[in-house]
Amino acid sequence: MTDYPHIQLFIDGHWREGSGARSLPVHNPATAQVMGQVACAETQDLAEAVAAAERGFEVWRRTSAFERYKIMRKAAQLLRDRADLVARLMTLEQGKPLGEAKMEIMAGADTIDWFAEEGRRAYGRVIPARQHDVYQLVVKEPVGPVAAFTPWNFPINQIVRKLSAALAAGCSIIVKAPEETPASPAELIRTFIDAGVPAGVVNLVYGDPAHISSYLIADPAIRKISFTGSTPVGKQLAAMAGLHMKRMTMELGGHAPVVIFDDADVALAAKTMAASKFRNAGQVCVSPTRFLVQEGIYKEFVEQFVMHAQKLQVGSGLDAATTMGPLANPRRMAAMHNMLADAQHHNANLKTGGKPVGTTGNFWEPTVITELNTSAKAMNEEPFGPMALINPFATFDDAVREANRLPFGLAAYAWTRSARTAQQIASSIQTGMITINHLGLGMPETPFGGVKDSGYGSEGGTEALEAYMNPKFVSQAGLG
Ligand code: NAD
Repeated sequence: MTDYPHIQLFIDGHWREGSGARSLPVHNPATAQVMGQVACAETQDLAEAVAAAERGFEVWRRTSAFERYKIMRKAAQLLRDRADLVARLMTLEQGKPLGEAKMEIMAGADTIDWFAEEGRRAYGRVIPARQHDVYQLVVKEPVGPVAAFTPWNFPINQIVRKLSAALAAGCSIIVKAPEETPASPAELIRTFIDAGVPAGVVNLVYGDPAHISSYLIADPAIRKISFTGSTPVGKQLAAMAGLHMKRMTMELGGHAPVVIFDDADVALAAKTMAASKFRNAGQVCVSPTRFLVQEGIYKEFVEQFVMHAQKLQVGSGLDAATTMGPLANPRRMAAMHNMLADAQHHNANLKTGGKPVGTTGNFWEPTVITELNTSAKAMNEEPFGPMALINPFATFDDAVREANRLPFGLAAYAWTRSARTAQQIASSIQTGMITINHLGLGMPETPFGGVKDSGYGSEGGTEALEAYMNPKFVSQAGLG
């Protein structure tokens, strides 16, 4: 058995059970065993969390940016100090290899640091007035208490971007963290508490996601919503937030195209994109999925990509030899079965993988499918698993047409040695982010977000901080 802790709610400065004493089981995806329980929030607990966040906001908005910065930097350091412990919890509950878990945690600490610094530079501006003796100022004010909803694929990373931006801006927050991976988020929250964040500023709840979101979004005290998850759920929450006139950031699904031109460095593209495809067993919103490879290098690319996929070592994330862990939950296994059966029905060419590994846990082979018709399910729905789809293309326009065919527009990738082609592809693909000839997405200082059905708003860069601030215009005449 494992040393997995019992997970509680954190409301108004206290760890506690839900008022209904309900809890949900937490499973280990590598063994399918129940490891522990997570407490569930009832309506009364949510009301208390909102009241705490309102009080916390009054304290935190009056705390100087410099003081907030110091507390946040301390939380970042505590997270680094505890990285080994937190990584083990994350691997137990989410499945990813320990090394990936640790990288996520260290990157989380960098994110806290960056937003802490940026909060000190949330400058307003002075606008030259039309009258003598008048000052016109734009002051950045925190939006107010925030409700953040985050998924299970990156238990720390999905929270830390929202939490750090909100705190740096002077907002309080209620985090509805994932019930399937609750322990590492709880440890993240603990670093902020231990660093000295006052009671009520940070609150953590788990429970029934639909109940919690409909309660918090409707509550007048909550002024901003941030959600990461699937497009259908995002649309529901955005509709609700619209009804209550709440600001929102929506980071939703993707189906990233990867365009590889004849003049690309094929070996580097195959190696880099295979590592990216199978990271976190493909359960990544920016995962490269639809590979569009120009005819001249198609055969060579497929061979090399398949070779890299076959080299992966699938197993428990706690095993040092593992390079790809299990899928995080049985729903992803069902999705893989379903998409594969549909692809075979569409006469796809299964180059490698395509079946579970072993009989316990959610292990699925790294899977590569080629020449899949665009009517197949996997070519239209986010696989969110270790499944790469590779098709040839003839011309630049053919590639762009396919890349832009779907309603998603989160991330895109391209490989070419031509500066002209690179510039043209960057401006032709409908996407929030594109990275060319390398992997360059997801740094705290760079924008992170999508267009079309992939949502709106940014979770990185100065844009992410702006999302938690209202500009207030102050025009003041002299009294003399
Ligand atoms: P899902 O759509 O039921 O849930 C996705 C996330 O949203 C989960 O964290 C869930 O707790 C939360 N959620 C669901 N209903 C909610 C509600 N009414 N209010 C608030 N939160 C709610 O599906 P799932 O099986 O967990 O994941 C399936 C799909 O979700 C994936 O195929 C993928 O497309 C998408 N997803 C995307 C991301 C991402 O990083 N953008 C992360 C996880 C899942």
